Amino acid sequence: MFRIPFDRVNWITSSFLIGTALIAIIGAPIYFFHYGIDWFQFGMFFFYLCATMMSITVGYHRLFSHLAFKAKTPVKFFTLIFGACAFENSCLNWSSDHRRHHKHVDHDEDPYDISKGFFWAHIGWLLFKLDPEPPMDNVADLRKDKLVMWQHKYTHWIGLFVGLILPAAIGYGWNTMFGLDPVQGALGGFLIAGVTRIVIAQHCTFFINSLCHTVGSQPYSNKHSARDSAVMAFLTFGEGYHNYHHEFQHDYRNGVKPWQWDPSKWTIWTLSKLGLVEGLRRVPDSKILLAEMGEARRRAEDRIHQIKSVGPGYCQRTADLLSKVAEQLAANYHELEQAVTDRVQLSREVLQDWQNETRALMRQLSRITMPAMA
Ligand SMILES: [Zn+2]
Ligand SMILES: [Zn+2]
Repeated sequence: MFRIPFDRVNWITSSFLIGTALIAIIGAPIYFFHYGIDWFQFGMFFFYLCATMMSITVGYHRLFSHLAFKAKTPVKFFTLIFGACAFENSCLNWSSDHRRHHKHVDHDEDPYDISKGFFWAHIGWLLFKLDPEPPMDNVADLRKDKLVMWQHKYTHWIGLFVGLILPAAIGYGWNTMFGLDPVQGALGGFLIAGVTRIVIAQHCTFFINSLCHTVGSQPYSNKHSARDSAVMAFLTFGEGYHNYHHEFQHDYRNGVKPWQWDPSKWTIWTLSKLGLVEGLRRVPDSKILLAEMGEARRRAEDRIHQIKSVGPGYCQRTADLLSKVAEQLAANYHELEQAVTDRVQLSREVLQDWQNETRALMRQLSRITMPAMA
């Protein structure tokens, strides 16, 4: 059983995380109670939250950690500046941790290993120092990037100036311009777009490591704990389709279906149309469907095993029904697998038909209830 190492508290990080949370929880309500809702402050908070979160999801995560696309300097610069404002360490450190997370997911070397518990995966890994510190030997490519190295050197200064002092200065300037109390404007900027935004952005990111490995479905694989959840996608700017992401980490999309909520994917796509990013990596539809069909087939076989383990008393009719569904799923899987191996170009319509059939079989499977004992 994993024990929380209280003797190895990371005092600087812990003080920052707990201190900012206390300031946000206590300070923001007092500010609103005294001064009421200020739409300018709210607008600045919204801009800063989106800029910070997008810099983490589009920049730190999909661009730098996974190389899911190539970006021109303005995109790199923006995401490195506002990424620093999240106070989640430098892009180099973040990417190193994240690459280890993917490589060793659910195992000891995974920095936010969910098998050590929800608290550890969410924030515990930051509050306590690991001994020894793992080597940053998986980011040689990023070390060649001068902008990344510049941000690595000054990340806390950038965060302090752009993430905390700048919103206070903007609040001060705005209130001065409109004949309002400038100190109130500065205080609001620091508290709302500054500290409160940092706390919200951090916990939304931490949710990806905790809740996205706990809540949701596993349509692509059950070989790791990552899960897909629309609610989590909403809270994490599209990162909630985490089961897909762990299966196909180099795809620039996390919500791969057209209807799935993934503002980070839409942003990358829009930037590509503007010529600011290029080389968007996509997993072919046939491979995605193959993963879905493989998982559906595995679940059907699991159910059969489950009912047969009831013993000789299992209901023959239910077992036959399940076997039929499982056989069909397996046959479809092998047919698609062959087509993928032979690099047969399958039309969208053919893939859609296969997907519909898989879904229909899965619905049939879920309607088959467990056997009544004889
Ligand atoms: Zn993960
Ligand atoms: Zn990732």
